[in-house]
Amino acid sequence: MRKITLIALMLPIISFSQNKFAQLEQLLPTPNEYRNAAGAPGHNYYQQQADYKINVTLNDEEQKIIGKETITYTNNSPDVLEYLWIQLDQNIRSKDSDSKLISVEKMEDFRSLRNIKKKMLDFDGGFKIEEITSTSGHGMKYFINKTMLRIDLDKPLAANSSISFNIKWWYNINDRSKLGGRSGYEYFKENDNYLYTIAQWFPRMCVYNDVEGWQNKQFLGSGEFALPFGDYEVSITVPSDHVVGATGVLQNENSVLTSEQRNRLKKAENSDFPILIITQTEAEEVEKNKSQGTKTWTFKAKNVRDFAFASSRKFIWDAQGVKVGGKNIMAMSYYPKEGNPLWERYSTKLVAHTVKTYSKYTVDYPYPVAISVHTNRIGMEYPMICFNGGRPEADGTYTERTKYGMWGVIIHEVGHNFFPMIINSDERQWTWMDEGLNTFVQYLTEQEWERDYPSRRGPAHLITNYMRGDKSNISPIMTNSESIWQFGNNAYGKPATALNILRETVMGRELFDYAFKIYSERWKFKHPTPADFFRTMEDASAVDLDWFWRAWFYTTDHVDISLDEVNWFQLNTKNPKIEKGTAREVNKNEQQFISQIRNKESIKETVNELDSDIDDFYGSRDIYEVDAIDNSEYNTFKSSLSTDDLELLNSGKQFYELKLSNIGGIPMPVILEFTFEDNTTEIIRIPAEVWRKHEEKISKVFFFDKKVSSILLDPFLETADTDINNNSWPEKQVPTKFDLFKSGRSSENPMQRDLRLKELSKKQ
Ligand SMILES: [Zn+2]
Repeated sequence: MRKITLIALMLPIISFSQNKFAQLEQLLPTPNEYRNAAGAPGHNYYQQQADYKINVTLNDEEQKIIGKETITYTNNSPDVLEYLWIQLDQNIRSKDSDSKLISVEKMEDFRSLRNIKKKMLDFDGGFKIEEITSTSGHGMKYFINKTMLRIDLDKPLAANSSISFNIKWWYNINDRSKLGGRSGYEYFKENDNYLYTIAQWFPRMCVYNDVEGWQNKQFLGSGEFALPFGDYEVSITVPSDHVVGATGVLQNENSVLTSEQRNRLKKAENSDFPILIITQTEAEEVEKNKSQGTKTWTFKAKNVRDFAFASSRKFIWDAQGVKVGGKNIMAMSYYPKEGNPLWERYSTKLVAHTVKTYSKYTVDYPYPVAISVHTNRIGMEYPMICFNGGRPEADGTYTERTKYGMWGVIIHEVGHNFFPMIINSDERQWTWMDEGLNTFVQYLTEQEWERDYPSRRGPAHLITNYMRGDKSNISPIMTNSESIWQFGNNAYGKPATALNILRETVMGRELFDYAFKIYSERWKFKHPTPADFFRTMEDASAVDLDWFWRAWFYTTDHVDISLDEVNWFQLNTKNPKIEKGTAREVNKNEQQFISQIRNKESIKETVNELDSDIDDFYGSRDIYEVDAIDNSEYNTFKSSLSTDDLELLNSGKQFYELKLSNIGGIPMPVILEFTFEDNTTEIIRIPAEVWRKHEEKISKVFFFDKKVSSILLDPFLETADTDINNNSWPEKQVPTKFDLFKSGRSSENPMQRDLRLKELSKKQ
């Protein structure tokens, strides 16, 4: 009895883990009134609202942010809330931050003065919360738990009601060149100037929803943000010679811009190329001095999940209009002269192209502005505004890598407006839901920017090295943001590639694009989860993708399908003329073995060649000769067949039995290119379900009128097959070249080389 029970328990587990075609039900949350089984918001879907009114001062002398905000929080949930959770993400820079304590180090991480200095830096960048008061001015009870702050409400917040309260705070801004970070300042020694890109700068409401209650995972550095939507009114006080770019629309142009700047801005609205609002010459003039006074820039933003801004007296500013869904959006860029010549030439055009292309594949860009701000190196996204790298050399030249790096990062970060700023997934839990989906559309956008744009992520064959790599160093895509191995490959590259494969190979472009747009429409200005994405993609396409999600998102298996064996068959026509003739040819061409060959020379004559009495009936018989009995038997056989059968028998069809094995573990569509003797080809595409019962080995028979000369598996490099050496029949060998001489690398970039070349030709 005991044994039987054990087997009964073990069997489902074994088959469950081995069968990629098992349905996902056990892994996904049960559909409910908030999120339905089709992957759409349920009939009782709700989400909270957090509106902010903020006054902030940027202290340029001491590099500090000093702010006061009023948050109005609306509880649209059916639940009564006894407390509110607020995120204090700047506390990752406080002296006692957990992220410092939990970082894992080896001594080799300290083996440079720069690294030691960085590790030893004693910077205090955490929030200093000065007070939290109710609208009536009373202090509210609160408790800070690292990067989170809990407000204990005197009276619980009932369903469908709201509460307002005020927070006063300040913090020290981090020097990004020393401490890194998504937010911070860059210091320019020349003229003693700062460029601020400021984010996570105010206490922000956490998400409360049907999935997790309060989002209460601490900010440790990798898992980004989970934020509710709301309306913002933000007044930013900065030195009067600073220029501010921010989330939202500027409300007081007249008091912060000159009439010349306002005229240029007006002109830019209807321009389909960038117009300078502040020129480089003007910016260079401004950065030489420092104003004494201040100015306050006021912005309003509706239905956004966050607010960021950039401020500097170094800014050059350009803008153009871009039309999406009948609306005119302002694409704009802010950059110091150090960004030129790249930035004036490309940034705003890239912003406009990105907004347009993403709108085509997802939802119409709903915001009035889209901004790209220059920083050194990083790329980071916020609603309507992002901070992007791409800095040329001081001499104005740049490498191709810098150019493509800048193009790619601007498309990527502007693209984040859609994922996660509009389609607002929980970044603290799932990096892939915004980075992966965004990197996928980034790929489509890059390809529409330049033909054969060398995209780093998206094409199937670019993920193979990662996927076949050491499995102890890989995590499934469905891994929490903080625990991911190989962040870029796992959360950006692999999901982007998986979606590309769905689009090109598994679903086809029409079904995929429709379903992807449905997902975007369903979840714009809402909070989707992985299951909502998985379910919508299937529901809108009628393609069961459970096997695909399971294999690509829940395991670390890779793709390696091998064409193991090809066996060639022909029909036996039973026609003695044909079959005996063929047999005679085969016999004649039979391979000779060594003694046979040598004996032809060494044995002059055998006994039966000398003595004619030796050969009897068998010795002289021609077994390939067709005789009358053969013919009559064939005629009898023929008369027993229908015309159809006879036609088939004489059709000359060539049969090929292919044996394939799935070495990598991910079942994938089998795409075969057959090349025939006359050099024509035929492509046969077999869906992945061919593996549904036998996941490791399958065989399949193909028949043609012509003889096949070669077969190639995955001829268009679309399945991410990690080993293409087992993809062809007959087996193909590609030589590996080896170097005898090491070539030296010059530190000169190609543009500098070109300048040298021009100098050289002038001298001659
Ligand atoms: Zn990103």
